Amino acid sequence: MKITDLPCGPFLLDGGSIFGVVPKTKWANFFKPDENNNIALGLNPVLIETDNKKILIDTGTQKSIPILLNKLAQVNVSPDQITDVIFTHLHFDHSGGAVLAADGKMTLTFKNAMHYCTEDELLAALNPDDRTMHFYNTKAISTLYKGGVLSTIKPNSFFDNNIYIEESPGHTEGHVSVFVYETVQHFIAGDAIPTEFHLHINYMTAFDQNLKQNLKTKKKLFEIASKRKTIIHLYHSLKNISGYLTKEEKRYKLDI
Ligand SMILES: [Zn+2]
Repeated sequence: MKITDLPCGPFLLDGGSIFGVVPKTKWANFFKPDENNNIALGLNPVLIETDNKKILIDTGTQKSIPILLNKLAQVNVSPDQITDVIFTHLHFDHSGGAVLAADGKMTLTFKNAMHYCTEDELLAALNPDDRTMHFYNTKAISTLYKGGVLSTIKPNSFFDNNIYIEESPGHTEGHVSVFVYETVQHFIAGDAIPTEFHLHINYMTAFDQNLKQNLKTKKKLFEIASKRKTIIHLYHSLKNISGYLTKEEKRYKLDI
């Protein structure tokens, strides 16, 4: 099995939105905001190659599709070879790369792939409320769903040999993280832990649907990760995309 990070950033977001109630005096120590208060984040899909599958975890934005295809080409994978796409959740920065919009038409980026998310996530994306309609590209998700290429997965079950889908609600209700059991355990966190700075247990984003639930999720994920030697993959880190998860006193850290 081969696991590869495919960095497709930078992705600009308002600094306040990614750090929630954490004061700017704290987060501005590690991110320098531009004149619009935006900070540069990463967009880091992960490719898992097994003997017979090429699985993509998240796909970046629609805008980052050329970068994603370029990163895949660098590891000699064509978009048509992708067999499965697993979405940690369907926010546009995670699912947008699956659907290409051009000339008023939507086409699939990975035309031979089956795409997966949880049922809760699918329902949330197809029926967004006044707040979440800004986070989901409902039209693109409908294209996948109506095209019969978006199916639901059961959380807390194996997707494939050694690839486990762990329920991790909070950022969204239907959010999942992915664990890959190799000699070292790989932990693909999605937006439960978007950057290395969110390894602070109480650092959460303003996009999180349910902060209390996300806190519980983070505790659970850290507990699972602490049982084995773990490499964590951080979707929105720009520089430190993946590394060993270590614990110093009470705090988890990234060891590159
Ligand atoms: Zn995100």
